[in-house]
Amino acid sequence: MTAEILSGKSISLEMRDELKTTVDGLKEKGMTPGLGVILVGDDPASRSYVTAKEKACEDVGIFSREIAMDGGSSKEAILEQVHALNNDDRIHGILVQLPLPDSSIEEEVLNTVLPEKDVDGFHPVNVGRMMLGLPAFLPCTPHGVLHMLQRSGATVSGAHVVVVGRSNIVGRPLANMLSQKSAFGNATVTLCHTGTPNIAAFTREADIVIAAVGRPHTITADMVKDGAVIIDVGVNRVEDASKKSGFRLVGDVDFEPVAEKASFITPVPGGVGPMTITMLLYNTVESARRHLARG
Ligand code: NAP
Repeated sequence: MTAEILSGKSISLEMRDELKTTVDGLKEKGMTPGLGVILVGDDPASRSYVTAKEKACEDVGIFSREIAMDGGSSKEAILEQVHALNNDDRIHGILVQLPLPDSSIEEEVLNTVLPEKDVDGFHPVNVGRMMLGLPAFLPCTPHGVLHMLQRSGATVSGAHVVVVGRSNIVGRPLANMLSQKSAFGNATVTLCHTGTPNIAAFTREADIVIAAVGRPHTITADMVKDGAVIIDVGVNRVEDASKKSGFRLVGDVDFEPVAEKASFITPVPGGVGPMTITMLLYNTVESARRHLARG
């Protein structure tokens, strides 16, 4: 079997077209969805993520406001900007680009974002609501994976899903959402991590394997069964002298050999990555829609 490529790029384009139509409808009612972005410091990767998110906002008609702060900004100064965005009626979603130069203040900064503007889905209120299966802003990367699975037509209900990686932003919420008794879940989920003695014993039994580890070649062809659906969340830089930059991006999955066995596989780049940004737009539009409904 040779896998069908599950392109996050093309699913994203479809979803962004749908979002643009929704935004046009909201604008006719006098509502322009707005995203506030806080970027602290001058990390090039963070800068390029923020630029990509702002460009994506512009493409679907979302207003974005960037607050760029010096890398040495105090916690108080950052919190002041979060409060300003919390109180800004034009802003329906707030994104604090991580990592902050001082990672020890991240929790307090994220917890200061109003839950109803927390379009990243990182606030404990949203995490708790998600865990309970209540309406919440779902974290963008796992939410994007759910949409990819749904649009691939893969059967999730009743499937055995193995998630490798248990971070709070990817693996753990995915495992939770996929195991919920809901339209997009109802799977039997196994969550593997560095404490799992023989990961291959689990992945070989899986109908769907999701890798969210951050290490190239974590999932090799001998670890997957024929016809499995493979979702590769990992983004890793590996040296490549043929590239001007000196590196290229790969996922956690040994792509070509695994693609020979799988039924569907996501590429890196062009897989889960574009979906993460799309779900940020989705949550921002949803927040604006809720704001309008509240009056
Ligand atoms: P993270 O916080 O570093 O978590 C990695 C997880 O993988 C941990 O739970 C860790 O286990 C587990 N792990 C590490 N090495 C392992 C191994 N050899 N075997 C089994 N489990 C192992 O990373 P993250 O934030 O979840 O991100 C994971 C990857 O996804 C990264 O490459 C990141 O760049 C990428 N990512 C992509 C997107 C996107 O939009 N495409 C978004 C977010 C993240 P322990 O808990 O036991 O340490």
